[in-house]
Amino acid sequence: MTSISYERLHQNMQNLKLETMEAIVDNYLELAASENKSVVEILDHLFEEEYRSKNNSAIETRLRISGIPVKKTLDEFDISFQPSLDPAVINELRTLRFVHNAESVCLLGPPGTGKTHLAIGLAIEAIHKGFSVFYTTASSLLDKLKKAEQRGQLDKMIKTFAKYKLLVIDEIGYLPMQKEGSHMFFQLVSKRYEKVATIFTSNKPYGEWGEVMGDPVIAAATLDRILHHSTTVSIKGESYRLQARRRAGACAPNTHETIGGTA
Ligand code: ADP
Ligand code: MG
Repeated sequence: MTSISYERLHQNMQNLKLETMEAIVDNYLELAASENKSVVEILDHLFEEEYRSKNNSAIETRLRISGIPVKKTLDEFDISFQPSLDPAVINELRTLRFVHNAESVCLLGPPGTGKTHLAIGLAIEAIHKGFSVFYTTASSLLDKLKKAEQRGQLDKMIKTFAKYKLLVIDEIGYLPMQKEGSHMFFQLVSKRYEKVATIFTSNKPYGEWGEVMGDPVIAAATLDRILHHSTTVSIKGESYRLQARRRAGACAPNTHETIGGTA
């Protein structure tokens, strides 16, 4: 290689922001020459490494901005602990077809049964597959919407929340929404309806959402949209946390966590 083409090669890699390729190209070309690699093999290796590193940093960025509070993966989830869970349903969700199809997933059940874990596990899989994802608790979401409304920017905030390909709204039902909050929640659900996917988690069955939302009519309209294209996963087992404490001998057998306690 002439020194002009060598320098231009490096310069163009910098211009095109092929940073990994530029960092490895000299050593790799030497190795490739000693191992008689073909031009296609050389190009393939260089582009593969560049793609891998760009993809990894994109995943890191999406994870960082996702608001996911703690990393939980589906592989870490012990499905055998919850006999009420159908592994086929979880495997279907894991394909992320619901994200492609802009559907809803509702994870319902008492505290400690793994709703947040499953929601975050699915969210992380979606991040790895290139989707934009945001996690929020219902109370933090309503807080943001209320503050935006006070600044006259509710529409803008709803648009921001509507753009994520997957939004996780965790812990619906732990705090009552108040009428104003439930109207804003309905607006957000309507905006996302049939366009992008949402995972909802709640400790309350649908029949109690009227009470949670402080308005049975708005609750019915919200559920109508959520449930139109949706998968409901009802977890009926006992708390994983409670079982762990029991194993540690910290509480007597047959003690039940109060439904509606903190998640
Ligand atoms: P919930 O949101 O239903 O209240 P979490 O998802 O927060 O419950 O679960 C409580 C804790 O127990 C978390 O640390 C979670 O990772 C763990 N956990 C729950 N269920 C399982 C499970 N089946 N396998 C592994 N860990 C679990
Ligand atoms: Mg939870």
